[in-house]
This record gives sequence, structure tokens and C-alpha cells, in this order.
Amino acid sequence: MLDSRSRRILHDLLTIPTAPFAEHRIIAYIENFVRQCRDCSLTRDDAGNVLVHFHRPGRAVARPVCITAHTDHPGFVSDAMIGRKRLRAFWRGWVPPELFVGTKVKFFVEDRWVRGQVKSIKTAVKAGRKRVDTAMIDVESPVPPRCAGMWDIPDPVEKHDRVYCRGCDDVAGCAAILTAMERLSRGTSEGEAYFLFTRAEEVGFVGAMAACRLGTIPRHCVVVNVETSSELPHAPQGAGPILRVGDKANIFNPSVVAWLQAVATQLGKRDRKFQFQRKLMDGGTCEASAFCHFGYDAAGVCVALGNYHNVDRKRNRIAPEYIHLDDWANMVKWFVALVETEQAYDGGNLELAQWLADLESTYAELLRTSVNEPA
Ligand SMILES: [Zn+2]
Repeated sequence: MLDSRSRRILHDLLTIPTAPFAEHRIIAYIENFVRQCRDCSLTRDDAGNVLVHFHRPGRAVARPVCITAHTDHPGFVSDAMIGRKRLRAFWRGWVPPELFVGTKVKFFVEDRWVRGQVKSIKTAVKAGRKRVDTAMIDVESPVPPRCAGMWDIPDPVEKHDRVYCRGCDDVAGCAAILTAMERLSRGTSEGEAYFLFTRAEEVGFVGAMAACRLGTIPRHCVVVNVETSSELPHAPQGAGPILRVGDKANIFNPSVVAWLQAVATQLGKRDRKFQFQRKLMDGGTCEASAFCHFGYDAAGVCVALGNYHNVDRKRNRIAPEYIHLDDWANMVKWFVALVETEQAYDGGNLELAQWLADLESTYAELLRTSVNEPA
């Protein structure tokens, strides 16, 4: 289902090394990419988050959408060589501590991978949870400080309509946004939208929260957070991208959920290949909760993710993450539709209001006349 251009962008993003607080290669790719896009301008806030503004005058949009994704993935950041072949590295993000020792890793140094193996870990309690804090890693050659390290998993491969890689979460989300942005930029639609690429989500949304405090996203925007979220029995891969009504911590803004649903439903009528799901994805917490907390009208869209955070639960080991390509391709179409739609976001739920009013008027008389005896 993927055209060659979409596949290129997706594979590029899934190949670039990244880790929390070491997202600069993804950011550089985005900056380069946006330079080629007509009617798109880019700014970086003081926290290093990247905001893109698509604006083609001709159609005023009172409440433009801001689609956001995070640029990091759980991983290592090199600290210092403490022996000829021994590296101390920080670990950032959540992966069960018992999966580290003995597992192969690699660090991206200048333009090549340096391989290694975890020898020992130190844990620390942060934000109420025991996490891996640092790791001692035997490496094949010296690694300078501040390099991103990831599990030793190959570059992306496609198999059975899925793509397997070092990390989909959330660079697949970033890739979907870029693909949608390029389609808008090459198309003729007028209007306005924002796209935000955040840093350091995996330690707990600190890039997104900084974006809120800095006022990076204009206050009148309706915020749609893009994620890959752990596949659930009721939210399988291949059944379409998911309108996320909430996460582990929070229920999202009902008006935004209603608007996302209305746009997706219209899209499904025009495009028979488009399908979507509407689910509570409570396998994890996402930036939409932070955006809601800071007063934005926000909700989420995600694709179901296999081997969430590289954990193969059946075999209890580190493994490639994977997503379904049709889910991802349909998510891109949905983003384009959110920008092109004529249905303005109004902060309410017009469809529900009309339906309820219709029900009331249909049955008002019957309700009244049947109070004391059957109608
Ligand atoms: Zn994520």
C-alpha cells in the first residue's frame, strides 16, 4: 500500500539513530526536509523542539490543527570511557532492568555504528519507578560522550505487511507527519496547520511540557498527538490507525475526539481503503495527557505497536519493534484530511448535539402521552 516516496521517508526515519536528549540527527533530517517544502516555515524553541507552520493563504482556519510526535526512542547516551574498551553510558526510557545484561548494543559515532555488549547496570528510583540509570558496556572501539546508543537490531525490514526496526516509537509518527506535510506542500489546498516535533518524551514528556510552558504551540490550535502504542487484544494491527480516546493516565478532550472521528468518517466515505479504530489505549501514557494538563484541546492518534519498547514479552528478550504498513499509510491520509477538511473544529460536538436534539423531538410527544398508561 505504500508508494515509494512514503516508504523512503519512513525507512529514513526508522534508520536514523536517536535517544532521549540525543535526537539531533532526527532534528537535522526534519530541518533539511522542511527546507524542500513549499509554504512551510520552521522554528526551534528554547528546548530544541521543532515547530513547522504550513500556511497557504486563501482559506481562513479559526482553530488550526497542530499534529505532534516525539523524536526520541528509549536508548543509551554515552558518558565516558572508563577503560580501554569499557564505556559508561546513561540509559533513558523504560525497559525492564532484567533484559539488559548480556544484550548487544551499538553506538552511532560520527557516521558508523560501534558495537558493544552490556556487562552491568545500576538502577535508581526516578519518578516513583525503579529504572536502569547507567550501564557498563564493553565496546569494540572508543565511543566519545553524548552519542546515541540503541539495541543491536538491524535497519528496517518489511515482512508480512509490517516493518521491523530498532524503534518505531515515535519516529514512525514523525515520518507520518513529514509525509503528510510534503503532500500538503506539493498539493494545492489552502489553509493552515502546525506540526510539532518534541524531544525527550521517553523520560516523561519533558520536551512537550517545555513546549507548553514556552508557548511554542499557538493557544488556539487543536492538538493531535501521534504515537505508536502497544498493540492490545481489542486494538489489533492491520485494522487501521487508532483514534485514541485516552491513555493510562487520562481521558482526552471529547470535542477533539469527536472532530477526529468526524473527519475520519468522511474520509472513509471518499476512500474505501481507509479504515480506523476508536479505542482506549491504556498501555502507556502519551504527550496528549501533558497537552490536556496544560490547557490545550488535545487528543491522540496512534498505530498499534508490536514489541513495545523493544520487549518481546513471549520470549522475554529485546527484539525489533514493528507496525503494520497499512495502518501507517492510513494515518498519513488522516493527517492530510485534518488539514484539508471543511469541517471546522468548534470545541463542541455538533453531530452529537444534533442527534440528541433529533431524538428528543422524535419522542417528546410519546414520552408525554405515555406517562400514565401504555401508548
Ligand atoms: Zn512514544
